[in-house]
Amino acid sequence: MVSRVIPVDPFDLVIFGGTGDLARRKILPGLFRRFCAGQMPADARIVGAARTDMDTAAYRAMVSDAISEFGGEFACEGTTLEKFLQQIDYISIDARGEKGWAELQEKMSGTDRVEAYYFSVSPSLFGDLAERLQHWGMADHESRIVVEKPFGRDLETARALNKTLATYFAESQIYRIDHYLGKETVQNLMAVRFGNMLFEPLWNAQYVDHIQITVAETVGVGGRGEYYDKSGAMRDMVQNHLMQLLCLIAMEPPARFDPDAVRDEKLKVIRALDPVEPHHIARGQYLAEVGNETENPDYRTAVNDPRSHTESFVALKAKISNWRWAGTPFYLRTGKRMSARSSEITVVFKETPHSIFAEDAGRHRNVLSIRLQPNEGITLGVTIKEPGPGGMRLIDVPLDMTFADALGDQDADHVDAYERLIMDVIRGNQTLFMRGDEVEAAWAWTDPLIQGWEARNDVPKPYDSGSDGPTVSTELMRRDGREWRKV
Ligand code: NAP
Repeated sequence: MVSRVIPVDPFDLVIFGGTGDLARRKILPGLFRRFCAGQMPADARIVGAARTDMDTAAYRAMVSDAISEFGGEFACEGTTLEKFLQQIDYISIDARGEKGWAELQEKMSGTDRVEAYYFSVSPSLFGDLAERLQHWGMADHESRIVVEKPFGRDLETARALNKTLATYFAESQIYRIDHYLGKETVQNLMAVRFGNMLFEPLWNAQYVDHIQITVAETVGVGGRGEYYDKSGAMRDMVQNHLMQLLCLIAMEPPARFDPDAVRDEKLKVIRALDPVEPHHIARGQYLAEVGNETENPDYRTAVNDPRSHTESFVALKAKISNWRWAGTPFYLRTGKRMSARSSEITVVFKETPHSIFAEDAGRHRNVLSIRLQPNEGITLGVTIKEPGPGGMRLIDVPLDMTFADALGDQDADHVDAYERLIMDVIRGNQTLFMRGDEVEAAWAWTDPLIQGWEARNDVPKPYDSGSDGPTVSTELMRRDGREWRKV
């Protein structure tokens, strides 16, 4: 199947933090892939901007290296790469000083192309960048800014950041990235829910027993120990990624597939979340990998704080108080150094009200699994008769729609979330970006949970590296007569 690629309008994209890790690993290789796919017009311009002194030639060499290292199968496109590099410039700029701003202004003036400014820098610089863009006349009502996570570390800081950005830019110009929303499956989740008659009538507490959302990583904190220890799994993953997934699963059908209609519905979900009771939260810290303690030490060693109470794992039971979901729990779980790298949403339907197959009564449930990684795809478990003459025995089989199988070579697997989202910025489509009030509502829900365990001086429970989290997480499910899906 051949994918349809519609080129976007000509644009100028300035990447503040253009020499940083995110730019090298995701943004620049992603832009190159869009260039190879024919989506990036030949007269689009990318301007890397960071403090480091270097000329454009040196920056292009850096971009070329980044593409070789992180570009995947697109890494070695000789002449195409050369053409792409010709569209790249570099400016040495200081977000907090005067250096580079006049040059940037000159570069950006006199064009009627889409102007986008990607803030791929520490959030402490967001305000400085916004203020200087305005001062230098680059914050006109056509320009857009893209801001990275973390968006605050609590409600107060998120509010302050929203307020600062709102001083210089309208909400319609601000693109808050949550790259989970750029994943193919996440959008497919909306297509499956709202493009089919099959699921929506069953999508409620009457038919759904519970929902699980798991984002498991095999890696530890790595070199980000110090940063991570100030944050923890709740702030780093739940407040943004897992809550966004929860919203998409739980929201009411929006009247239209447009940014504010979708985001209004997501916001209603967050506002309908009950506070989580302390015994519905399980926190953990990973132990060292047995036999490989030096390379993969325990969490506290990795963050260099033997008394750290920050969680590298958190699981919780959330309840949504509205007509659709009252009585259906949502179990959220995320952690580092778990048994597998996997992100999955599982909708577990209720048992049939009465089984006519006596010996199998109560044993079978339909399970809809939406896999974000690896192997993005959707699987529906259905119950059928076991083939053969052995009588009426039932088994569960998956109806599998792994995108790579179903769609062959079509782009799905190759389009990284970042490249999709950057193209949406250029197109001016905010549907897959978080609105300011959404972010604040998410913090308003998570803040009391964090404050609660800090006030209780809660100590995360240790869990084995390569396991599925601490036993308190298993117990959280067991108490409800349920169990986690295998990671
Ligand atoms: P990084 O590797 O530390 O890069 C930071 C960038 O900011 C560098 O290009 C640095 O370049 C530039 N910079 C620092 N101070 C500056 C100043 N005063 N003026 C202009 N530029 C300045 O960080 P990163 O990992 O790329 O992360 C960037 C942002 O993305 C952060 O908000 C991070 O939380 C977020 N994020 C990153 C990832 C990831 O995978 N890396 C994932 C999600 C979110 P110079 O030193 O040359 O100035």
